[in-house]
Amino acid sequence: MTTRSGFIALAGRPNVGKSTLVNAMVGRKVAIVSDKPQTTRRAIRGVATTEDTQLVLVDLPGVQRPRDALTERMQARVEREVAEDDGVLFVLNAEEGVGPGDRWIARVLERVTVPVVIAVNKIDRVREPRLLEVLVEAAGLGVGDDVFPVSARTGKGVGPLLEHLRSLLPEGPFFFPPEAPSDQPLEVLLAELIREQILRRTFQEVPHAVEVVVEEIEDRGDDVIVRARAWTETESQKAILIGKGGRMIRAVGTAARRALAQELGRPVHLDLTVDVRRKWRADERLLDRLGIE
Ligand code: GDP
Ligand code: MG
Repeated sequence: MTTRSGFIALAGRPNVGKSTLVNAMVGRKVAIVSDKPQTTRRAIRGVATTEDTQLVLVDLPGVQRPRDALTERMQARVEREVAEDDGVLFVLNAEEGVGPGDRWIARVLERVTVPVVIAVNKIDRVREPRLLEVLVEAAGLGVGDDVFPVSARTGKGVGPLLEHLRSLLPEGPFFFPPEAPSDQPLEVLLAELIREQILRRTFQEVPHAVEVVVEEIEDRGDDVIVRARAWTETESQKAILIGKGGRMIRAVGTAARRALAQELGRPVHLDLTVDVRRKWRADERLLDRLGIE
């Protein structure tokens, strides 16, 4: 049997639904989702395998103008990754239409040599006349030969998009075992699940200031002990994350423990501590250690 395989990178402004779309295409949750920008700091891959094709989805961070060391790295990563992929899926938000941020990304993508496919996401949020307008605006961006209207939330249109992306893949062997949904180390996946719970409960600068590292996973057979540390940049962020009388961190811990138990299929004891690491976002050495390139 001839197999096809390859990588498709997702580009798009924060919050357009890239992570949700990866999850919808893979058929399970591999990339964490939140309504806060910059949720995805790492190029998490989702793997969608059929009998004869393996589509590896690279969930890129939102393309943004560089501001600090972290966003500069993101930007560099986007450009580097895209050059090595078999195609780019450029995701737009139907509800918001095409804006300056999308046009800026389109200009970045004009320079890539691989095929660009546009997905107009969140079509469940707009009526048909508005959708048609956005589809025309999307085609007017000047990148991408095909525009697919989709809803990552309801799954509408995701099938035809997947089929098209698969058709872009070259012949070749699979990169991952067919059953593998993701290439993330377990520590990273668990840390992201914990961070997702923090993102849900914090506001303003706090979500972006927090990084979670899983330091130890102790498998005891019947249950699993997970030791994790949440880093904040300042004492006041730490105080917010802990909350009055520890209320916030307990709520995070309870929800995260549930998410981890669901992922691991066993009860989890979560040992979550909060620490301050000043300016971790500008600290290149720490970024290296965390695997953020
Ligand atoms: P990313 O930053 O591009 O990765 O965006 P996310 O996947 O994290 O999604 C951002 C927000 O949009 C989340 O609240 C999602 O639940 C929501 N979202 C994503 N796709 C859809 C969709 O098709 N319809 C609706 N209504 N909401 C969506
Ligand atoms: Mg994301």
